[in-house]
Amino acid sequence: MKTVIKRLVFLTTQTTCFLAIVAHSSNNQADSYSQAQLSSKINVADDSVVFPDDAITRTIQNTTQIKRISTSDQGDLPNQYQESQQRHYSESDFVNGGNLNLDPQFKDVDIKLEHKYHHFDQMTQYLRQTTARYPSLTALYSIGKSVKGRDLWVMVVSASPYEHMIGKPDVKYIGNIHGNEAVSREILLQLINYLVTNYNTDQYIKWLLDNTRIHIMPSMNPDGFEVSKEGACDGAQGRYNSQGYDLNRNFPDYFKQNNKRPQPETEAVKEWIKKIQFVLSGSLHGGALVASYPFDNSPNSLFTTYSHTPSLTPDDDVFKHLALTYSTSHAKMSKGVSCQSSQTSFRRGITNGAEWYPLTGGMQDYNYVWYGCMEVTLEVSCCKYPPAYELPKYWEDNKMALIKFIAEAHRGVHGFVFDVAGNPVEKASLKIKSRDVGFQTTKFGEFWRILLPGMYKLEIYADGFVPREMDFIVVDEHPTLLNITLHAAKRWQHFPPLVTNPPKPILQLDGQPPSKDALNFPRSK
Ligand SMILES: [Zn+2]
Repeated sequence: MKTVIKRLVFLTTQTTCFLAIVAHSSNNQADSYSQAQLSSKINVADDSVVFPDDAITRTIQNTTQIKRISTSDQGDLPNQYQESQQRHYSESDFVNGGNLNLDPQFKDVDIKLEHKYHHFDQMTQYLRQTTARYPSLTALYSIGKSVKGRDLWVMVVSASPYEHMIGKPDVKYIGNIHGNEAVSREILLQLINYLVTNYNTDQYIKWLLDNTRIHIMPSMNPDGFEVSKEGACDGAQGRYNSQGYDLNRNFPDYFKQNNKRPQPETEAVKEWIKKIQFVLSGSLHGGALVASYPFDNSPNSLFTTYSHTPSLTPDDDVFKHLALTYSTSHAKMSKGVSCQSSQTSFRRGITNGAEWYPLTGGMQDYNYVWYGCMEVTLEVSCCKYPPAYELPKYWEDNKMALIKFIAEAHRGVHGFVFDVAGNPVEKASLKIKSRDVGFQTTKFGEFWRILLPGMYKLEIYADGFVPREMDFIVVDEHPTLLNITLHAAKRWQHFPPLVTNPPKPILQLDGQPPSKDALNFPRSK
């Protein structure tokens, strides 16, 4: 008799599971998990949840080997920098394991970075000298070569330049993707210089570099830059790579088939962002003064090309905030004055990309949709390639904005996903409920998501584990830390992924008439 009961129980369990699977496959969405189904699988006692505000701190001791990390490890933003915009600011990834950087002749030399345009050899020399002069704060690596064989240099500026700091975010800036948009290239070199020379004297810069790895690529299109002309404010000479491709139209697209032949510069960037999980990114352009945020494309761009219809992401509040952080910290971007009377003016100096004009194959949509990296397109100068004597002004206008934007990587939620034995779970898929663009854990089980203050639900899925949901709150002052334990699924338990990564694109065939972008001289983006 006992055996029969046992069998019955077993069958009932199987049937329940079977029904659950049917429900999942009939609606292949994460939301199809019923609340009860997920809640019943949550054992909060296994997790450490740290809400950052002392008044509401609630720590649930973990019963596993998870190392609890205090938010104070990350330090607080020094107060004067949170509000004030008034203050004046007077791994294996490395080429030759970094050996090429350590040229002793630059060890004690003060390197002067002039406000002039640095052609490829001069830029390379500056980067090598700087990393030799500041070996504990910088590392230089190349992610690949341009069509003409120029290195695509990246300088990491951080207190840990050669190694990812576990639990701390990696961010990036990419400049000069359009070769003739030259201000971006020079202000990124100035940013490198500013960060390394102020580390020991500026409390905020020290905090930033102690807690962030900042990867700076001054030029993604070094070939285009070499054929551009100083003084050319408009036009497209040098915009493209040396095979005539617009690199900001050369990425896979979420909304449309992109049939453009992949270029070496784009392939290198794709490989780079696959290797390093960047939390936040700025792509710097010129020819307008605006911070433009995803989506750049939309499912029906044939119509939006002419109607300026926004194409909003589920993280629109966050993207608007990031764009506003840049525009309001810039000397004049937020005033929203158009560069020329014939050009669009942007309220508060921000715009949705598709609302300005839609494009296919842009880099920011790719970063966000494929890797969950929040990238904003920063148009930093009305004139694409102004005379060199104007460069100090452009640096002053953008300096505070460049610094404050990076710090936004420390907003929202971050944490670790472990199994019950305390091992990190790599490539777990996560999403914030009702925000259907997912993100993944690193090999250390880490994750990050920039969020504004509020109450959220995190959904976690990993192959072989029981899915979870976790409620958490985000406050303004500190990031919220979540340590999450996943329990192994039983052999008969199968759970469909919450999100696929990279996601299955919503593709349309690219049969539309030429966009406005193609008809007119591209101003920017
Ligand atoms: Zn551009």
